[in-house]
Amino acid sequence: MGAREVIVNLMPSPLVKVFARPYVAGQGIDSGINTAKKLWEEKKLHSTIDLLGEEIREKEEIERNVQIYMDLLDKLGEQKFATVSLKPTQLGVYRDEDGTIQGIDYCHDNIKKIVEKAKTYNIHITIDMENHPFTDLTLDIFKSLRNEFDNVGTVLQSRLFRTKQDILNLPTDKMCKIRTCIGIYKEPPEIALQNKKEMKEKLYEYMILLLERGHYPEIATHDEKLIERCIEYLDKNNIPKDRYEFQMLMGVPREKIQRKIVERGNIMRLYVPFAEKWKYAIAYCKRRLAANPMMGAYVVKNLFGKTTGR
Ligand SMILES: Cc1cc2nc3c(=O)[nH]c(=O)nc-3n(C[C@H](O)[C@H](O)[C@H](O)COP(=O)(O)OP(=O)(O)OC[C@H]3O[C@@H](n4cnc5c(N)ncnc54)[C@H](O)[C@@H]3O)c2cc1C
Repeated sequence: MGAREVIVNLMPSPLVKVFARPYVAGQGIDSGINTAKKLWEEKKLHSTIDLLGEEIREKEEIERNVQIYMDLLDKLGEQKFATVSLKPTQLGVYRDEDGTIQGIDYCHDNIKKIVEKAKTYNIHITIDMENHPFTDLTLDIFKSLRNEFDNVGTVLQSRLFRTKQDILNLPTDKMCKIRTCIGIYKEPPEIALQNKKEMKEKLYEYMILLLERGHYPEIATHDEKLIERCIEYLDKNNIPKDRYEFQMLMGVPREKIQRKIVERGNIMRLYVPFAEKWKYAIAYCKRRLAANPMMGAYVVKNLFGKTTGR
């Protein structure tokens, strides 16, 4: 663990809660839905709504999470502005003390229930990607469900050496919606790039590869130079606007470029997490804070009303 992670882990929860404010919609399903509605009505921004929580092992809590997702889908109903994101480790899969993975079938069935229900409302589900012990099973669950449903997608992280092959291994007869990002989890040098510039170069390459293979990249980055570079490629190659979208995390101040993307006629989607329990919001924000020390500076600026408007 690096010094930054140690400091973040020592931060008292009430302080993390202050940092969390711009990044988390609030507590309960309604906070997620109301935030997504507001983003759509006021800024024409799409959302992907996510229940915070990961690494859950208690069956009761897992069943409760499935129910929360079912209720979220019922409350959202058929609409055009929001999709839903979820994580395998909040829905039944976990790593044992000896490192073996447990609960894959149970997790598959739970995600299937959610995808099946979402299909009745035409809501897309994204299976988020967690750290490398979960990559294979996440891709297996995604591929098995994609065989049956067209409303499910997943995430690939450009820092992992395996990602190019993972793109080549996607089904070739079906368009897959793949969020492509650098990845938030620190991964060992044996399996992953350590340099952000290189990860971003790969993100750009993988966006192109996904398009060439007939898939739909969801370009998830806040790096404005990288976004501009992607736009240049997309325009130069006349890629239709329904073949890709851009995604960012709610709370990261990127209003200007988000507006530009919306005005171009592209989908600009924000990740809108809500919490059932604050302890999960705190874990999410601690991870983001450790990855991005600038987050603290932004929050302080936001609290005092001096947003950069970037
Ligand atoms: C919609 C969405 C979904 C994601 N899903 C996953 C997933 O399933 N699995 C996974 O591993 N990762 C996921 N990520 C995280 C992603 O992999 C990166 O860790 C994150 O987006 C930061 O990378 P970046 O490309 O924005 O580059 P960076 O260089 O990290 O960021 C570019 C600039 O954006 C600003 N910035 C970025 N993040 C923040 C922040 N939190 N607070 C303040 N400023 C910030 C900073 O100014 C920074 O210099 C997701 C990201 C998004 C946007």
